[in-house]
Formats: sequence, structure tokens, C-alpha cells
Amino acid sequence: MNIDPHSFKEIDPGKRILMGPGPSNVPPRVLQAMAAPCIGHLDPEFLGYMNEAQQLLRYVFQTKNPFTIPVSGTGSAGMETCLVNFIEPGDTVLVCVNGVFGMRMSDLALRLGAELIQVNAEWGRAIDPEDVRRAAAGRDLKILAVVHAETSTGACTPLNDLADIAHEAGALFLADMVTSLGGMEVDIDRQDIDVAFSGTQKCLSCPPGLSPVTFGPNAMEVLQNRKSKVPSWYLDMNMVGKYWGARRKYHHTAAVNMIYALRESLRLVAEEGLAKRWERHALNHKALVAGLEAMGLEMLVPEAERLPMLNSVWIPEGADDIATRRHLLKGYSIEIGAGLGDLAGRVWRVGLMGHTAKPRNVLLFLSALEATLRKQDVRINSGGMEAAAAVYEEAW
Ligand SMILES: *Cc1c(COP(=O)(O)O)cnc(C)c1O
Repeated sequence: MNIDPHSFKEIDPGKRILMGPGPSNVPPRVLQAMAAPCIGHLDPEFLGYMNEAQQLLRYVFQTKNPFTIPVSGTGSAGMETCLVNFIEPGDTVLVCVNGVFGMRMSDLALRLGAELIQVNAEWGRAIDPEDVRRAAAGRDLKILAVVHAETSTGACTPLNDLADIAHEAGALFLADMVTSLGGMEVDIDRQDIDVAFSGTQKCLSCPPGLSPVTFGPNAMEVLQNRKSKVPSWYLDMNMVGKYWGARRKYHHTAAVNMIYALRESLRLVAEEGLAKRWERHALNHKALVAGLEAMGLEMLVPEAERLPMLNSVWIPEGADDIATRRHLLKGYSIEIGAGLGDLAGRVWRVGLMGHTAKPRNVLLFLSALEATLRKQDVRINSGGMEAAAAVYEEAW
């Protein structure tokens, strides 16, 4: 079979403002780091970058855990890693579900033969710790799992009470921090989290492809004392850990250029400083919400339970979901996210993650949305941009 090589043009996607649920905009320095020469994954130069990437990951996770590595694969690979290494058939696993990613963890737990206890909250709400306490009472729990930042809705579940409940039940506390890491407070050691995973393309503003995970001392003990082999070869952290550990024993080829990218994105996080970065996300979120509410739009999640980096807003009456998103993308190069599950066609998900969380993006989005909705004769108030700008002016 022949093909005409000239029919394939150079890749030129153009620039977008990525205000969806991820990926977020990638800073030029990160793209540049990725373009460095690919070298051997056991080359001493590369081993140095790996060590530095690990040091930087411990900083963003705020942990001393020696086992802190980026798993090859996206956030879901990190999720699978965290479940497949700790669950053995018949283990009782409690999963909190208030959106898509909690459901994904339940699905995985069942595939691994766990006895599943599911604690639900309405989509768009935080998990109520009292519900978890009741469900955990008298049960021999192996793992209690929760999504810190539920990107499918924009709800934040506080972790402190849940960590206590998990540990009182003798269970490992596992948190999905894919969207929270780098955008709001994550402190693995202080929050008493035994197992956590994240992703590169949300608030770390790195392309998708790696999933940082961290295991605490209790988790390492459980892993080392498994009765059965980890059922996944690729994600068996006993083996992968020997490559990231002192011996550098080959397991699979590291995603060399992705590790360059991660290291650079983490360097940017460290230069900004975690506290400043969390504040920046909070401020841009506050301005966005002020703008949307001034336009007469309403948020899905109650104020006290909102995430800074993912903002679900009800689609106003008379607005066409698909036409609006298409127009924002075509006319203004702005991508926003659609609703998922029962919320499909009812909310938009506006991301302010990492490098994207900036005043100029918030202000441009508000004015672009206003113009787009007016064209559809949707009744909205003017003054969205002004309300957002006022939030910035007050903070500065
Ligand atoms: C994005 C996301 C995931 C899945 O990550 P992928 O990179 O899409 O595989 C898991 N959990 C949460 C909370 C997420 O936001």
C-alpha cells in the first residue's frame, strides 16, 4: 500500500486558551524542555533529571515519602496504580462517589475483586463525612478512597475528617489529587494521606502523559506484605520502584521527554511558590464567579464547596450548549468543558488550571461569553467583566 507523504501537512493546531477540565495551557518553557534531545533512560545525565523530578514532586505533594514517582500514563493510570497495588480479591474498599472520577474508582475496585462499599453524594456536592463514618462503622476496611477535587462537577471534599475515619478503621486513606495538585492546598504528610495520585495536565500545566503518585510508610508496608502478586505487570510498583530506586533496574523505558517536561513544569511551580500559586488560583476563581454572577448566571456548587480550578455554571435558559462552546472555540479560541452524566447539556465547566489561571483569560472569557449569549438573545446582565476586574483591583 502506498501513501502520498505530501498529503500530510506539518502539525499546526494554532493556539487555544484551554479553559476546560484539562489539559491546561502549557508554558513555553515546558514545551522547550520537551524538545531537548532524547537520551538513554539509564544515561547518568537522565538519572540526575529523574532524581530532581522526584525531589520536586515531593515538594509539590509536601511529603517526605521516598516512594514518590511519576507513573507512565495519564491520571487514570495513576488511579489504577493506586488501586491495583493495594487491593487483593475480597478486600473491603470504601469509595466515596460524587462524580465521574469516584465512579471510575468504584469500577476499578470491583474489577479487582474488592467488596465495595460506596458512599454517594449528589453530583456537585462534597462528600459528607458523617455518611462515610456510618458506612465504615464495624467494617474491616482495607482502603478508604475519595476524590479531593471532583473535576466532573467542581466540588471539593475536605480530607481531614475522612483521613481520621480511615485510620480509625485501620484502612489506608487514598486520595485522587489529579486536579487539586498545584492549584490548591495539598499536603500529603500533614493531611495524613497514605496513597495519592495526580496528573500532569491539570494544575501542573504540563502535557498529559505522566501520573505522579506517592505512597506513605503504611502503604509501603501493605504493598510489601501482599499475599498475591500485583495483577498488573506494567503498574506493579514493587518492580517499577526498583527502577526509580537506587538500583535503577530496568522495568520499562521511562517516558524520557515527558520527564523533562514534568521537571520543568515543577520547577515553574517551585519558582512561583506553592502558597502564591494556590492564592492565584483562588483569586482568579473569585473574579470569574463574580463576573458570571454579575451576568445573572448561577454556579452549580454551593460557595463553601467550590473548587478554585474548575467552575461549573448552569447553562442559562435559551442558550444552546453546543453552539455556544463551538462559537467560543471558533471565534475566540477558548475551549470550555461540557457537563457530564446527568449534567450534560445543563452546565458548562470552566477550568482555571495552572498557567491558564490569569486575569486576562478570565476577562476575555467573560466578554466572549457575554457576546456569544447576546447573539442567541439569551437574557443576561451586562457588567460581568467589570465585576471581575473589581475583584482584582480590590486584591491588588
Ligand atoms: C482528569 C482526572 C482524572 C483522569 O485523568 P486522565 O489524565 O484523564 O487519565 C482522574 N481524576 C480526576 C479528579 C481528574 O480530574
